[in-house]
Formats: sequence, C-alpha cells, structure tokens
Amino acid sequence: MITAGELRSIPLFATLPDDEAETLTARLADIHLRAGDWLLHEGEQPSFFMLIDGSIEVRKVVHGAERRINVYHAGEYFGELPLLLGSPAIASLRALVPARVAQLDHGDFAQLFAACDTFAAELTGTMTRRFQRLRDLATEPAPARVTIVGHPYDVACHQLRDFLARSRITFRWLDPTKPEAHGEYGPPQPGDRFPIVILPNGERLATPTLQVLADKLGLQTRPGRGVYDVAIVGAGPAGLAAAVYGASEGLRTVLIEREAPGGQAGTSSRIENYLGFPTGVSGDELGTRALQQARRFGAELVVARHVQQLESAPGADHCVVLDGGDVVRARTVVLATGVSWRELEVPGADALIGRGIYYGAARTEALNCQGQHVHLVGGGNSAGQAAMFFANYARKVSLLVRGPSLAATMSHYLIEQLATKDNIEICCRCRIARVEGEQRLEAIVIEHRDSGEQEYVPASAVFVFIGADAETDWLPGEMIRDRNGYVCTGRDVMDLVAQRSAKWPLDRDPFLLESSIPGVFAVGDVRHGSIKRVASGVGEGSMAIAFVHQYLALHRPLPLA
Ligand SMILES: Cc1cc2nc3c(=O)[nH]c(=O)nc-3n(C[C@H](O)[C@H](O)[C@H](O)COP(=O)(O)OP(=O)(O)OC[C@H]3O[C@@H](n4cnc5c(N)ncnc54)[C@H](O)[C@@H]3O)c2cc1C
Repeated sequence: MITAGELRSIPLFATLPDDEAETLTARLADIHLRAGDWLLHEGEQPSFFMLIDGSIEVRKVVHGAERRINVYHAGEYFGELPLLLGSPAIASLRALVPARVAQLDHGDFAQLFAACDTFAAELTGTMTRRFQRLRDLATEPAPARVTIVGHPYDVACHQLRDFLARSRITFRWLDPTKPEAHGEYGPPQPGDRFPIVILPNGERLATPTLQVLADKLGLQTRPGRGVYDVAIVGAGPAGLAAAVYGASEGLRTVLIEREAPGGQAGTSSRIENYLGFPTGVSGDELGTRALQQARRFGAELVVARHVQQLESAPGADHCVVLDGGDVVRARTVVLATGVSWRELEVPGADALIGRGIYYGAARTEALNCQGQHVHLVGGGNSAGQAAMFFANYARKVSLLVRGPSLAATMSHYLIEQLATKDNIEICCRCRIARVEGEQRLEAIVIEHRDSGEQEYVPASAVFVFIGADAETDWLPGEMIRDRNGYVCTGRDVMDLVAQRSAKWPLDRDPFLLESSIPGVFAVGDVRHGSIKRVASGVGEGSMAIAFVHQYLALHRPLPLA
C-alpha cells in the first residue's frame, strides 16, 4: 500500500495535510512493474498515475509508427489529459526499469479535481502544456516511407496504393504525366514500366507484386514456424478475432491474408452498429486495433500471400499451400475468407476495372473524386455508407438502385443519414446498361426500368456494391459447400449426411463451426447461413477457438514412427 509519506514524495502532494493524505492513499492502487511491463496501452481506459519509483516511457503511434515521445521519472504524475478530455488513453506507458506507480481511478480523480482548487489549477496547467506537445506531434509532416509513380487509371497502381493505405504505410503518389513528378522522377521515357515504387533507401521497383513490395518493406510474408496449432485464412474481422483469441489462449497462431488486414470491414468508412462504439468506428481503425491486439498476444500475420490449396489427411497436420508453393502446417485451420464482390455484368465493364469502375468502396480513390459526379450501384448498407463517404469529396453522388426503394435493403439509420446530404441523389428502379471509355471510364448508360428509357451520362467513377460471393473453389472436393460456394458447418453437415448427399468420417458429430473436414472450421461471411455483419464474424471467430481447443484435446498428434 502507498503510504502518506510516499504520496508526499510527489511534489504535487508535498504539502498535503495528514488527514487528506490518508483519505487519498486509501483510494490508491499500488502497482509494481518489471522493466518492460506495460502500465497502459493507447486506446485503453485511462487513470491518473503518480510515479513513486523508477521511470516510465511514453510511447505513441505517430504517423503510423510507434515511437517514444517522453520519459517520466519518480515524482512525476500523468494521465490527467485523457481523463479531463473524457477520451481513451492517448499514449502507451511502459516501465523502462522496475517501477512503482500509484493509480487513482477516474471516478476518484474526478472527485479530487472538483473538490480541490489548487490540484485542479496545477493539473489544468500541466494539461495545457501536454496538449501543446501533442499538437506539435500532430503537425509534424508525416515522413513518406514510399513513393509510388503511376498513372491514376492504372489498376496495378491502384492496388499498390490500396495495399499501402490498408497496411498504414505512408506514401506519396506521383502521376508521371504531371510536371510535379518530373523534379524527382524526370519526365516519363519510352519503355518505362509503371507503377514504379521508390523505397526509402532509393531502391526502385518496377511493377512489383504485393509480395515483393511487402518483403522490401519488412512485412512478414512467410510463416516463421514449422507447425502451428491453428492457421487462420483471411484477416477480416472474423479471422482477426480468431487470431486474438487463439494467441491469447496460448495457441501457436498464424493468420494468412492475401492483401492487407481488415477485410471488407476495412473499406467501411463508419461502422455504426458495432457494440462499444456509440459514435461508430471506421473499419480501418477497428482492423488496426484488432491487429495490434493479436500481435500483442503473439499471433503471426503473413500478408500478401494467397492461400491456394488445402491438403488434409486423417490424423495428419493440415497443409495450407500458399501462392508460390510455401506450405504452412497446422493442426487446425480456420477459414475466414469472407466474400468477394460480385462483378457488374454489362458490356465494357471488365476492361475498365480500376480505370473508373471499382468494386467496393475503394477509399483510396476519394481524392480522385473531388468535384466529380460519381455513381454507386447497389441498395445495401455498404452502398449507403460509401455514398455518405464519397459525398464529402464528390460534387454529386448518384445511388443507382434496382428495387423500388431502399427500405427493404438498407438500415433505417443510413436512409436517414443519406437524406441529410444535399449532394446525394437516389435513383430507384434503374440499372447500368452499358459503360463507355477507352483508357478510362467516360460515360455510363442508365436504363430506367419503368419507362425503358436509356440515359447517357458522362461519368468518371462507378463504385459497385451488388452483393458478393464466396470464393472457395480452391478448397478440397470433400469440403461440403452450398451451391454458392459457402462452407457448410456443424448441423448443416450432418443434415446432408443424413440425406446421404455428404460424408463425415468420424463417430462424433462435427462441432458447431466445423466443416465436413475434421479440424477445419469456417467462420464469418464465408460460412453457409452466416449473418453478414462485423459483430457476428467477430463472435464466430472467437467461438471457433473454443472448438479448436476441443478438437486438439480429442485428436492428439500421431506418435512419430
Ligand atoms: C463497405 C462495407 C460496409 C459495411 N458496413 C457494415 C456495418 O456497418 N456493420 C456491419 O456489421 N457489417 C458491415 N459490413 C459487412 C462486414 O464488413 C462483413 O460482414 C465482415 O467484414 C465479414 O468479415 P469476414 O472476416 O467474415 O470476411 P471479410 O471481411 O470479407 O474478410 C475476408 C478476408 O479474407 C481474405 N482472403 C480471402 N480469400 C483468401 C485466400 N484464399 N487467401 C488469403 N486471404 C484470403 C480477404 O482478402 C479478406 O481480407 C460492411 C461491408 C462493406 C463492404
């Protein structure tokens, strides 16, 4: 327990009378840290701390990279800034040497602040100084780690920019046809192959694959171990949740993602119905936080690798085969591959993908939409959210909906939000009949279903949200899927077995989220019958780990011959 004498070693409390010191110490937690222990992580619920002994470093993610921004020594206090702002912790705190900290929780802090004018005045002064320091950090120019030189309508350039943005790697993008690029890159020469990526050390990569770029940037693209307890395929919300629970429960966990983590949710500008975020959270932020959490527990994340095959034999480890032939061996597998956008089946659309036609929200294109008239196809929540997002950049956003209204397909809160934006137009009972353009999208032809009239509209960007399909062709034949490719699990597998249209090889029934291959689980949008929501994906990803434990307990590895 912290004594009154120890409390008075903090200059802020040096003159505190005995009775008040005793009342206060009765409210304090006495925290002992070893060197390297975390006291608090950025984003957590803050408290007020007084450092009795040792030193504590303050670490913060600034422009995508975590760094030390301050060090506190014995006698100092901290934590008042987020408490007074009512925000989550603004930075993380870690002991540099063994340390002892007195902690006052936010309720007691608020009482002390309200009751004691001297304390309140001192803390307000400190808070103002620290706030200034944060402002200085925020206004520091973000160091661009990478420069991309590529044409705005080049699909490969779009993919690289998207990958970097979703990996939270700061980059500059130069259009080689614009004079601003020439100072650094020079005018384009015949034979130049774009996009070119210039790394911080000056190395130039012409048309790199995502894997090459990820390798060069030091991201993990290969598994670090020979065998895992659980390999999770897909780093959307469901896969990230499985990684957090798997790693936190001591399983050797690897998460494999073909692009960058976040999944579909990562393209959402604001998820408003996820528990615990009353003002909404961007998919990007949710994904980044989940990833930090999974890594903190020791999960490995392998990015820019496409899983192309799964080999499973009774009693043996599963082999997850990546593009290029690398194999990840794992005792169990969690499939969290979600869905991929359904493509627009109209003449001319294929040739213009990435050159004006985009699937999903493609948020990296927002600046290209400034002052333009953009069209969105679809009447679901994802189209509604994207309309809200692009309305902040585009001159006008037209939402093209096949049905008679949005009521049956979009949440009520989103319909209300759309109505607040003057520059969003909703066109019901229509579809795109044709798209036109050579190098890039130039126009679309909209067919009005009631009149049959065709309207020619100049257009520079169309974002398509017309539903999605599970891409599961690569899974083995014995994995039971429905006719749209969604993976059947648990009871659905046994129902099909009862109808003699499927096989299940064990005496026991499959676990709730287990597929027709024992030890392979399916969670989130890729699962047959799933509710396509972030919360349900996260729930299933977490639950799957409980079944992984049960499976591992029942199926011990075969002894080596
Ligand atoms: C724009 C938009 C807005 C949305 N808004 C909301 C909302 O407000 N609230 C809500 O609850 N839901 C919302 N949703 C739905 C929600 O995002 C999805 O239900 C959720 O993301 C599903 O999570 P998942 O992990 O199952 O799959 P996904 O998010 O689809 O993630 C699957 C991941 O697997 C990877 N992958 C696929 N195949 C392979 C492979 N072979 N090898 C390696 N990796 C692979 C993909 O690249 C992807 O990253 C929205 C969706 C979109 C697109």
